Amino acid sequence: MKRKILLIATGGTIASRYTKEGLSPGIPGEELLSYVPEYREFCEVDIVTPFYLDSTNLFWKHWLLLAEVIRDYYDRYDGFVICHGTDTMAYTAAALSYLVQNSRKPVIVTGSQRPIDLPVTDARSNLLDSLRFASHERAHDVSIVFGGQVIAGTRAKKERTKSYNAFSSINYPPIAMIQDKRIIFYIDDADKVTGAVQFSDSLEPRVFLYKLIPGSSGSLLETLIHDYEAVIIESFGVGGIPHYEDDSFRKAILNWRNAGKRVVMATQVTHEGSDMSVYEVGQAMKEICRLPESYDMTLEAVIAKTMWILGKTKDPDEFDRLFYTCINHDILFSPS
Ligand code: ASP
Repeated sequence: MKRKILLIATGGTIASRYTKEGLSPGIPGEELLSYVPEYREFCEVDIVTPFYLDSTNLFWKHWLLLAEVIRDYYDRYDGFVICHGTDTMAYTAAALSYLVQNSRKPVIVTGSQRPIDLPVTDARSNLLDSLRFASHERAHDVSIVFGGQVIAGTRAKKERTKSYNAFSSINYPPIAMIQDKRIIFYIDDADKVTGAVQFSDSLEPRVFLYKLIPGSSGSLLETLIHDYEAVIIESFGVGGIPHYEDDSFRKAILNWRNAGKRVVMATQVTHEGSDMSVYEVGQAMKEICRLPESYDMTLEAVIAKTMWILGKTKDPDEFDRLFYTCINHDILFSPS
């Protein structure tokens, strides 16, 4: 029997046409499918279009809406393929990994660097690969399919703005490769998915990303306390907090903690992750301020996970417990 797939068309380059103002989503879902008729060999596809946007315009409301669409149609389909812009695709895939957990049915996010109606494009192979992977009986949970790779939804990062291999799997192997009609699994763990799928329907959007540069001011961090529930500090290297002359970062972070708000440490280095225990500039701050750190998680996953946890609880211990709980392959390291 052919698998039943729901194509959720949301826009992006894959569905864009050239206009005088620049590329803009305008190719409808039916037309996208018309470029990959081979899909009929292995699946049947229905289409929904909850919105049609450049992914630059997407944010947490759209992530919740996508999770809601998947929930509404979950029983009627064997898998889901979301056509999406590449610019914020890694954020959406990470957010959906937290909003739709323990799903035996695959949720694939894909897109392309060039529109599907061009003579030379990556769009057709990405869409066909996605439909093929979503139709595979061992596929499950949220992943990105792009450039012949299947990447866990929590592990993807857009590392190239133009090349077809735009996405990398960060600090973790790809789940599978797709070559022509063949799917080669590197991680085949479908049997671990037992019990019911779990959907969440809330996120805390008041999360700020504070990127350090040499000479950044801790007092600026302090001014954000009133407007945000959490701040993720994108630090240097394996992770440290500068003292400078005024120790303003330590004071600001302690004030965040005393206000009952979360401060999370992450690194601006993409590969290999944080470890605040290595240097004096990290270790003491981590202990004094009880800072959870990203370790090997991607920044996109840390942001989405923080929003998801704070949508459920503001309790600091529960925050730390959930933050270090592995969800859809997002973290390998787990502090004892
Ligand atoms: N700006 C586009 C988007 O993210 C880029 C793309 O899809 O590749 O929607």
